[in-house]
Amino acid sequence: MSNVELIREFGHERVAFFTNEKAGLRCIIAIHNTNLGPALGGCRLYPYASYDDALFDVLRLSRGMSFKNAAAGLPLGGGKGVIIADPSQRTEALMEAYGEAVESLQGKYYTAEDVNTDTRDVDYMMRKTKYVVGRKEISGDPSPFTAIGVFEGIKATAKILNGTDDLNGVTVAVQGLGKVGYDVAKYLSEAGANVKACVHSNRKAMEKAANELGVTEVREKDIFSTECDILAPCALGAVVNDFTLPQLKCRAIAGGANNVLLNDECGVELKKKGIVYAPDFIINGGGVINAGQEAFTTYDKENVLKQVRNIYNTVYNILEESQKTGEPEGVIAQRFAEDRIKNGL
Ligand code: NAD
Repeated sequence: MSNVELIREFGHERVAFFTNEKAGLRCIIAIHNTNLGPALGGCRLYPYASYDDALFDVLRLSRGMSFKNAAAGLPLGGGKGVIIADPSQRTEALMEAYGEAVESLQGKYYTAEDVNTDTRDVDYMMRKTKYVVGRKEISGDPSPFTAIGVFEGIKATAKILNGTDDLNGVTVAVQGLGKVGYDVAKYLSEAGANVKACVHSNRKAMEKAANELGVTEVREKDIFSTECDILAPCALGAVVNDFTLPQLKCRAIAGGANNVLLNDECGVELKKKGIVYAPDFIINGGGVINAGQEAFTTYDKENVLKQVRNIYNTVYNILEESQKTGEPEGVIAQRFAEDRIKNGL
């Protein structure tokens, strides 16, 4: 498939390439859909091997943002920016040049931080554009809000499994104790759950979780085969795949990581195995609900928290429909988002 056919297949409204030789900028900004409002999605900086790789990633990610924003009930469309660069070589000038690119789209696209960009980069972008969200003096770090939403989604998942969302005695295995995973483990342990967790290299977080939260350590390679009610991936994407599927001993998967399933077929396999799956782009929407407010209204933390807690209902409704119809949860979630994009919130 040619790149033009690919863009048509994904259904994008606009895909723009920007270069700035002096600043070393090579970037693509993709606006997938603006039916609900201006597009929002972060800026990923990555040493893509080619423009083709960067294009495929930005098309996929920006379409994902259309679904995530719509499912979160935000009056925003989906977009994404990717900068082709080595993270160690990012400079103020590079981020300013990216800001100029965003500004040239005149508010059709709002950017934010993402993989390999942070609030410092957001400050540099802001020198050149007002179309940036996630400013540290307004909505700030999205992770605490993502964690609250994930915790709500885990409660809704428990209700599907046990008929009650009381987490007392429910065993949850958390993969990764980073910004999102640690807070999720904390809320779970406060709610009386038996929390197990694994880390990759973050020994400090593991020790803190063990000492302060009573979390039990599981070896990194054993996290998928550990006995638990709910597995909460909070580290990497594509963790449900042909290698891990046969190992799973959980009754449900509900965590903060993006793109948990390697592909749609894995969602079908989970369903066949009777494992409930809380779709990632629904359960991890707390961060975008927080930052997204900056794009269309005056930031109000209480209002944000109310919307983030509503992730409970959205997750519950999707899982319940899946229980009734036998359709994979991801399919139902995507249809829910597509319906909103087509017909409004
Ligand atoms: P983070 O970098 O703070 O934490 C990730 C942690 O996972 C790190 O401590 C890392 O060492 C650990 N890790 C990596 N591989 C691991 C493995 N195999 N086993 C155990 N631990 C491993 O990132 P974060 O902000 O906490 O995000 C976690 C996930 O949630 C990511 O997939 C991210 O894309 C997704 N997400 C985050 C947000 C947010 O607001 N931060 C929003 C939506 C989705």
